[in-house]
Amino acid sequence: MMEIFPTQREAILERLLAVDPIKYGTTRNYIQGAVSRLSPYISRGAVSLPYIKENLLSRFSTYQAKPFLQQLAWREYFQRVWWAMGDDIFQDIKHPQPGVRHHQLPKALLEATTGIQLLDQSIQQLMNGGYLHNHLRLYLAMLTCNIGGAHWRMPAQWMYYHLLDGDIASNTLSWQWVAGSFSNKKYYANQDNINHYSKTIQTDSYLQQGYEQLPNLAIPEALKEITQHIFTTPLPICQTPLLDNTLPLALYTSYQLDPHWRAAENLNRLLILAPSHFNKYPVNAQVISFTVELAKNLIPGIQIFVGEVEDIPALSNFPAIYHQQHPLTQHFPGTATSAKWMFPEATYRAQGFFGYWKQCEKTLK
Ligand SMILES: Cc1cc2nc3c(=O)[nH]c(=O)nc-3n(C[C@H](O)[C@H](O)[C@H](O)COP(=O)(O)OP(=O)(O)OC[C@H]3O[C@@H](n4cnc5c(N)ncnc54)[C@H](O)[C@@H]3O)c2cc1C
Repeated sequence: MMEIFPTQREAILERLLAVDPIKYGTTRNYIQGAVSRLSPYISRGAVSLPYIKENLLSRFSTYQAKPFLQQLAWREYFQRVWWAMGDDIFQDIKHPQPGVRHHQLPKALLEATTGIQLLDQSIQQLMNGGYLHNHLRLYLAMLTCNIGGAHWRMPAQWMYYHLLDGDIASNTLSWQWVAGSFSNKKYYANQDNINHYSKTIQTDSYLQQGYEQLPNLAIPEALKEITQHIFTTPLPICQTPLLDNTLPLALYTSYQLDPHWRAAENLNRLLILAPSHFNKYPVNAQVISFTVELAKNLIPGIQIFVGEVEDIPALSNFPAIYHQQHPLTQHFPGTATSAKWMFPEATYRAQGFFGYWKQCEKTLK
């Protein structure tokens, strides 16, 4: 089923108010479960984690809200790892990924021909709609890396390219977690598991195996053909922004479309789409238009600048420049507003997620 992601403020708020953490806790692993579909807004900074936490705790008890808060904490944990490790997250983190056979993409991912019916539909859904349930992401990563023997890096780039919620930390670290380079064992799911959580029935596939057999499976024919693929970002052509040099300049990126940030001030507001960023982390046209539409709907007066931050016209003439703290904006000029954390007391100490979650839980009591 294709998902729709509206970009109006009311529709996003409605989606937040529809979150039912009780139902979520019991159904979230099922493809048709009561998941929130908030990720494109969270990843683009349109809704912050502290805001969601506050909203949930105003409507539910801590006990009831916990299953949802724990999933949000995964996101925050991955951001903390990124802050702590920087670009090292693009290398195998804990140990080299075991059993790598190639560093390319299986053609079956590009052509939706893995032979696993649910996953072939999911690939179409990803390419056309830009969103997948967590379990479908897990299955696709598992199939590509642990059954097909791909190193995680290129397939992770493929998935990120299509995701409206594409987030460098969540995506890179999830792929590494599945592939066993950021976890102590690889993740496997067999056809029974896929059938169970998707309520579909396929019985003739190469994943119709017991869990002991899966790690030793010969590479299935459908995953043998591999290819190099170059992803490019179709950046829009925009007019030079009209800026008032007597007012401060507020800089936004595709991860930081926070409508509350400095909302009451009279400022120039500029969304920077930097070619150097999108060359390194390419996204498709759908992601770009979603981002631009979201920015325009949430942030009155925002203009789009396709270029590097240092090339903004008359940059040195503004009385002040503001940006928001983020691993990707450390080179931005001016004053940085601190990043907003849902669990500001919790720290990343190179322990796994559950050690981190224990620190978060303590603050909820
Ligand atoms: C291979 C792989 C790649 C992924 N790539 C991304 C990505 O690029 N961007 C992204 O936001 N998430 C990514 N995830 C995490 C997760 O799949 C999505 O956040 C989630 O499916 C989004 O749907 P939702 O908003 O309906 O989630 P819900 O289940 O409703 O969860 C609510 C929110 O909690 C956070 N969250 C939930 N589960 C996770 C998780 N496992 N890891 C991190 N955060 C989580 C998200 O912000 C999500 O919006 C990836 C997971 C895997 C296995």
